[in-house]
Amino acid sequence: MIPNADTPRIVFPKDLDEACRLQANPRTRGRLIAGGTDLMAQWAAGVPVPERIVSLKNLPELTGIALTPDLVEIGAATTHAAIRDDARLRPLLPALVAASSSVGARQIQATGTLGGNAANASPAGDTAPALLVTGGLVLLASVRGPRTVPLDQFWTGYRQTAAAPDEIIVSFLLPPRGRAKETFRKVGTRAAQAISKIMIATRVLVKKGSIEHAAVAMGSVAATPVRLTALEQWLQGRPLTESLPEEAAAVVRETVHPIDDIRSTADYRRWAAGQLAADALRALL
Ligand SMILES: Cc1cc2nc3c(=O)[nH]c(=O)nc-3n(C[C@H](O)[C@H](O)[C@H](O)COP(=O)(O)OP(=O)(O)OC[C@H]3O[C@@H](n4cnc5c(N)ncnc54)[C@H](O)[C@@H]3O)c2cc1C
Repeated sequence: MIPNADTPRIVFPKDLDEACRLQANPRTRGRLIAGGTDLMAQWAAGVPVPERIVSLKNLPELTGIALTPDLVEIGAATTHAAIRDDARLRPLLPALVAASSSVGARQIQATGTLGGNAANASPAGDTAPALLVTGGLVLLASVRGPRTVPLDQFWTGYRQTAAAPDEIIVSFLLPPRGRAKETFRKVGTRAAQAISKIMIATRVLVKKGSIEHAAVAMGSVAATPVRLTALEQWLQGRPLTESLPEEAAAVVRETVHPIDDIRSTADYRRWAAGQLAADALRALL
């Protein structure tokens, strides 16, 4: 049951076209709902339930995981459990698999979706850093047609995305890691059901003992999930030495500007951001 709802109208479009048509008209547009794990928690906490809700459940275009040699396409309504349990994904996108496996507890993973996590645009969303390090794209749809947005341009501000009010996230187009190594780590208050204090994903390619390519992304160190471009540039071409992780930690602490909030202090987050980056790089040694 939807808490504190008088008579919300829930519409179940049968396909993406119908959903786009509903969202195109302000009179039929509704709040999109996928797994509802974010929205139900907000409504239970007293946020008013909207008059119209458009369900994305069962839209065929939004579900499933498709693989080609150069690209993994994950439908927006794919659940964290489906990502966690897809053995094909583990070697291709290990950071994302680890991130989806760390979202809440198994009940939340069974219902919550990748698209909902991204659209919610929380700086503490677990999957965003893992998506960011792939350098991939978000596919959006509306009656104007499809368009793609690079993931590093998708989160535009605190709880804001580049999607227009009538656009629906269809899928994520993610280049697999190839020969690069990926890591994902999160620091939370406790393992299950914890909103992260801070998390990191890395994708690093090492060739002949030096870093050829590094993508590093963090959550909860800014208003949006971010790529750590200063660290990435600093790492480029560097030999993998014993001292590299600690030196990288210092670069991170100089360049991130986290905030204080009820879950943690900015000072702790800055320190933990450095530690997480150092740990991730140590895993390569
Ligand atoms: C107990 C609990 C624990 C949690 N733990 C974690 C955690 O550890 N880590 C974490 O990251 N999150 C956590 N969450 C938050 C939540 O479960 C995830 O963000 C989840 O992935 C949201 O997906 P959903 O399908 O349930 O989203 P919904 O609640 O259905 O929607 C969330 C938002 O996304 C929009 N939306 C959904 N799908 C689309 C789409 N295809 N296109 C455009 N907009 C869309 C909705 O309109 C809404 O604004 C937790 C939540 C609860 C209740």
